[in-house]
Amino acid sequence: MYLKLSVKNTESDFVKKIEEISGENLMKCNQCGKCSAGCPSVSRMESLPNQVIRRVQLGDESVLEDDTIWLCASCFTCAVRCPKGVDLSKVMEALRLLTLRKNVNYTQIEKIPRDELEVLPPIALVSNFRKMTS
Ligand code: SF4
Ligand code: SF4
Repeated sequence: MYLKLSVKNTESDFVKKIEEISGENLMKCNQCGKCSAGCPSVSRMESLPNQVIRRVQLGDESVLEDDTIWLCASCFTCAVRCPKGVDLSKVMEALRLLTLRKNVNYTQIEKIPRDELEVLPPIALVSNFRKMTS
């Protein structure tokens, strides 16, 4: 006698979109935490990098509202450390792109105080605008 198992594909559109943009298979992540242990920006993040990927795996779109995805420095430390070959920096980039494609800017240029504009290195401003504005 055979027991027929039916496995439903429960991956949400959100998960599929992030996998499509990042080119990463999110389900390879086993939550070992090595990415978070080596991340230089982690002390200022609302969620740890491994928590970000877990929330995306679960289809939790509220992850887009966290500052965390914008505080990622795209340093690739997580990608180098991951034993499962997941490039989390690409996942963070995909999450930012999903927001920017809706014409939502993280940096609002007009709100940067003039005294800060006078002391900030131009290259910092340029890279900020490239990464955080649509
Ligand atoms: S290092 Fe890789 S497998 Fe481990 S939690 Fe981070 S993304 Fe997941
Ligand atoms: S790429 Fe982003 S998430 Fe990964 S270690 Fe660097 S700052 Fe942290």
